[in-house]
Amino acid sequence: MKLVKILGISALLVFSAFAAKKVYNHVIDQAICNQCGDCVKECPENAIKVTKLADGKVRHEIDPALCTQCGICIDKCKLEAIDAQEVKPKKK
Ligand code: SF4
Ligand code: SF4
Repeated sequence: MKLVKILGISALLVFSAFAAKKVYNHVIDQAICNQCGDCVKECPENAIKVTKLADGKVRHEIDPALCTQCGICIDKCKLEAIDAQEVKPKKK
């Protein structure tokens, strides 16, 4: 009986840990980014895309489909232009 109780509490703790896990989206603030490209070189997933604009400038953007939320780019960006924004679960 004691074992069943311990297993039940363990299962509850594991479930709670998963339920409490937060999800983040890494986003580049275009108002701060100077398009230096440092983050592109450091991203292990090649998730930061460089787009050439019509005016000849470039724009760095993180592809959420490739990003694993590792946070390396945040550490590498000298201008602190990259932010990890918490994704709130949608209300039903
Ligand atoms: S390292 Fe920072 S400033 Fe440089 S391109 Fe990436 S986000 Fe922009
Ligand atoms: S969080 Fe990691 S995987 Fe995502 S863009 Fe930054 S370095 Fe790449």
